[in-house]
Amino acid sequence: MTGLSRSILAPQVRKHLSADALFRLVQSDFARLPDYRVGDTEIALADALMSAFAMFSLKAPSLLAFDKERAEGNVHTIYGIERVPCDTRMREILDPISPQWLRPAFKSVFRQLQRGKALEAMTWLDGHYLLALDGTGYFSSKTVHCASCLRRVHRNGSITYAHQMLGAAIIHPDQRAVIPLMPEPMTNRDGTDKNDGERHAAKRFVAKLRQDHPHLKCIVTEDSLSSNAPHIETLHAHGLHYILGVKEGDHAYLFQQVQAAEHAGRVTYYERHDRAAGVVHRFRFVHDMPLNAARTDVRVHCIEYWEVGDDKSQHFSWVTDLRVRKRNV
Ligand SMILES: [Zn+2]
Repeated sequence: MTGLSRSILAPQVRKHLSADALFRLVQSDFARLPDYRVGDTEIALADALMSAFAMFSLKAPSLLAFDKERAEGNVHTIYGIERVPCDTRMREILDPISPQWLRPAFKSVFRQLQRGKALEAMTWLDGHYLLALDGTGYFSSKTVHCASCLRRVHRNGSITYAHQMLGAAIIHPDQRAVIPLMPEPMTNRDGTDKNDGERHAAKRFVAKLRQDHPHLKCIVTEDSLSSNAPHIETLHAHGLHYILGVKEGDHAYLFQQVQAAEHAGRVTYYERHDRAAGVVHRFRFVHDMPLNAARTDVRVHCIEYWEVGDDKSQHFSWVTDLRVRKRNV
């Protein structure tokens, strides 16, 4: 029975989630965007956007490589583009477009995955999705720059211009595919240093995430740059759980408190031997610790993990708001 119903249902589900169907979805969102241009609109805005999408979708190493593919390949048919612009035209048309214009396309694809039940395989802990956030750079130059560039002034007076963004994706330890959500660009209005920029971007990201997906159950996971009181409060205010990296060097007070808790017998140990891999997984966790000396009111649960192999041992540590047990650590 199960096999039969699957064979009837699966093609229908797959059809909506096929590359063709998803490309058409993206294209229809692009086609809805108003054309900002006056004068020469020989190449449709949607065609330029779809061409840029095709370039990334095909993993073209450069605009030039994509240009070659444009001339020789069948980019038109696969991506449903009427006229593919050359690299110069593509830059001209796309440069003035705000990244925010792409947000509806991310939402449409997400909805389609949700309807097609493709999201279900991504649930991870008590029906939550694991949402990874991280800052990443995608442009850097000492000469080329624009008004939105982040600027880093070096000691010798030279300036590096850069563009960065906060990337976001739903991930799952057992799934190769990830589901990217609309990233949040960082601009020079965010502040001068990277941490500051990332913090502001995270604030905007989380607010928009809740506009687009008000009820999505998420556990946010980030590196130790994010383990600060204001950010944890932002996550909490938007109903998001978290598992964030911490480092002994940056969170000395927290680690001292964990040490004290250990002496007081409040720490739980758990160990699992993976004989086949020759690895021992060693955990220790403790609840209700102060994040740092300045904000002892922000309470976190702390997890440490040692991966002990034959010739090396690695140590990782996180803070979380989720109750930690031996069965879920
Ligand atoms: Zn710039």
